[in-house]
Amino acid sequence: MNLAEIVKEIVAEIEPHRGEGKVADYIPALACVDPMKFGIAVATPDGECHSAGDADEPFSVQSISKVFTLALALQKVGDDLWQRVGREPSGSAFNSIVQLEHERGIPRNPLINAGAIVVTDHLIDNGDADAAIELLLRVLRDHAEDQSIDIDYDVAVSESDTGARNRSLAWFMASFGNLENDVEVALSAYFRHCALALSCAQLARAALFLAFNGEDPVTGERILTPQRCRRINAIMMSCGHYDNSGDFAFRIGLPGKSGVGGGILAIVPGQGAAATWSPGLNEAGTSRVGALALEALVARTGWSVFG
Ligand code: GLU
Repeated sequence: MNLAEIVKEIVAEIEPHRGEGKVADYIPALACVDPMKFGIAVATPDGECHSAGDADEPFSVQSISKVFTLALALQKVGDDLWQRVGREPSGSAFNSIVQLEHERGIPRNPLINAGAIVVTDHLIDNGDADAAIELLLRVLRDHAEDQSIDIDYDVAVSESDTGARNRSLAWFMASFGNLENDVEVALSAYFRHCALALSCAQLARAALFLAFNGEDPVTGERILTPQRCRRINAIMMSCGHYDNSGDFAFRIGLPGKSGVGGGILAIVPGQGAAATWSPGLNEAGTSRVGALALEALVARTGWSVFG
């Protein structure tokens, strides 16, 4: 299989669709991103990264960051995490509040906004959100073997300035006692990790351990236990695209996570990690052209967790 050729073919194949979908504008700093951007990268265990298009240009990873905060929280608190967040698909939008009342402030899963805010809260000790973000940055830079990874602070400020919905979710959960830190402290870490800027190549490389039972196949470093790694993949498969998760599983058949910045991360257990970027989204906040590109990738490689 020649992945270098395959990613080039995919850029040609998506060309007629470039620019499709609607760029997120509820975070004003995201609204000005060029909708014609498209990148794809596939990281493999030999340390290669096969990429094409705008694969080296950092973009706002938004909710894809939730996968990395989940991995860190599981490392830190283990299964105690599941006392404060569930692991069922929500069947509703990424920022929905309705289910929180029925389930007494316990979010359905760690990949919807409410769940990710609880996960982030777990990462903060002694009210120090800065230390939690520094740890996340250090870990991502190490995993990606790239010390240039950083946060786009314009996006973080823009998200905080317009974060009424996320504030509502956080205050509602706090009313049930499901946040340990001050609401604004938890949110300041949440807004910053959503504003991480990574390229497709950096993202695919940073997530490679998720395709290899929690161990980075390039450096040999163990990051997570195999069981926790499998569970993160299971949650990505069932919840990674909000109320679009079933369609993503049907079309692509891989654990994945979307972000409203237009990125998608997909994990191919035993093979590698793929990332795509195209800013135009479908109604559920998944990149339209990114999903098309991943469909083209699995069609050519035969990759699927469903055999
Ligand atoms: N930072 C975004 C928000 O909280 C994340 C949503 C997403 O990427 O799906 O609204």
